[in-house]
Amino acid sequence: MSTLLEVRDLHARYGNTQVLHGLNLDVAEGQVTALLGANGAGKTTTLRALCQLMVQTTGSITLEGVALNSRNTEQIARLGVGHVPDGRGTFMALSTEENLRLGAFSRASREGLAQDMDKVYGYFPRLRERASQQAGTLSGGEQQMLAIGRALMGRPRLLLLDEPSFGLAPLVVKDIFAIMRRINQEEKVSILLVEQNAKLALDIADTAYLLETGRVVLHGSSSDMRSNDAVRRAYLGE
Ligand code: ATP
Repeated sequence: MSTLLEVRDLHARYGNTQVLHGLNLDVAEGQVTALLGANGAGKTTTLRALCQLMVQTTGSITLEGVALNSRNTEQIARLGVGHVPDGRGTFMALSTEENLRLGAFSRASREGLAQDMDKVYGYFPRLRERASQQAGTLSGGEQQMLAIGRALMGRPRLLLLDEPSFGLAPLVVKDIFAIMRRINQEEKVSILLVEQNAKLALDIADTAYLLETGRVVLHGSSSDMRSNDAVRRAYLGE
């Protein structure tokens, strides 16, 4: 399996506050990779660093050999990295459909826009029902669907998802995770998933990394991680 994203010796800081201390991480083409860790471990910061958003970085980040860390956030989006940030980044005053259209900003051409919109509505039929509704009035689950749908409109090769389960009811989370897996398989979109809920993440991911205070302390296949004693005690509550 070829490597899509390769991260080497990544350091990231907010001003004088150093948060990532030399991270190494790979996302294989076509796979779901999970980033696990407690509050404050640096998971969100890792996704921001990959998009050159809000943090200063050193080290190397490449997407299929193309350096990302010398580029800005918009250029990184154009290269095929879709970011679904914590807080979801929805434009609350705009409609569902307007938000989806904005997701296409990073594409080279408008061609295929209507088909892609249909595809998003195919994955998330609730969004079609809410197409003209103001995004701020959607439920939490619908807003998460919209955030993922908006990122898909950019035709990403790699989706960075920041805690898609946050604040949602278990049944809604189950639905959204099943759809994420379908998107990964049917659209051949690789996924880097940040999740505090390790059980949920390991159920969907092929491989996982465990972060502690800005460092990778463990990585392996999801099944290896699931059977690791330290992971079971600290993150799976077993
Ligand atoms: P959580 O699930 O709580 O978001 P996390 O693993 O995603 O945890 P980060 O949000 O990446 O962790 O935070 C890592 C560290 O960086 C924390 O100590 C946090 O206080 C700090 N941090 C995050 N955002 C900023 C910021 N904008 N300015 C300064 N420090 C920040």
